[in-house]
Amino acid sequence: MFDSHFHLTDPRLNTLPEIEQGQCCGVEIGADFESLPDVFAFANRHEQVYCTAGVHPAYADVYSANDLENFVAEHISNPKFVAIGECGLDYHRPDLPSREQQIEVFKHQIHLADRYAKPLVVHSRDAWEDTVEILIANKSKLKNGVLIHCMSYTAEQATFLINQLSGIDVYFAFGGHLTYKNKEYLHDTLRVIPLNRILIETDAPYLAPVPKRSEVNRPEFILYTAQIMAKVLRKTVAEIENLITTNAYRFYQIKTAQ
Ligand SMILES: [Zn+2]
Repeated sequence: MFDSHFHLTDPRLNTLPEIEQGQCCGVEIGADFESLPDVFAFANRHEQVYCTAGVHPAYADVYSANDLENFVAEHISNPKFVAIGECGLDYHRPDLPSREQQIEVFKHQIHLADRYAKPLVVHSRDAWEDTVEILIANKSKLKNGVLIHCMSYTAEQATFLINQLSGIDVYFAFGGHLTYKNKEYLHDTLRVIPLNRILIETDAPYLAPVPKRSEVNRPEFILYTAQIMAKVLRKTVAEIENLITTNAYRFYQIKTAQ
């Protein structure tokens, strides 16, 4: 099953045999500038792993627009390089860089996605209004598609964004959250999203799904999220696997032999 968002170069995961042996399939997400060389090396080493270049809002205060731009330009011809991100806004944690810094860094990465014709992977936590305002204001730069990763907002909010960004391919990825009791409202969110715009991710090593919630998350746990998704959408797990893999290849513009 194609995992649309993981961080397998994390030291908690990179000694697991299934990861070393390449038994995982998905996108290794760049989240801070320092680790981008590792992220790209990991994708280059594993046939079924792709990668992105981006800076998470947590690192907005050590961001250099020039450094990221140079890195992107240098790697643009690498076929494993599929998107810009993760980037966005996180107002949940009080210890993160200022909102002004986060917004500036987010906008620059939207610009990069447009300039280099890549889809954009967005992280948005407790920052719905600013995220939506920025995406709508920059709609013309989202022609390559946008993915709201780890979707945590309501059905009304999802519908609003889809309507405001009409003409743009807006995808939503659901993670371990979907299996949590206190996040059951996400079942309604899932139901209002067009079937061809739904993805699943683990965000490993973070956000392990129930019943593995206390553990370090890893790619194989994607199955638990897929099982809940299948139940909510009244489909089989095999149908979900097919759906999210097809959607992920389309969003990330991955050409396959299939
Ligand atoms: Zn992530």
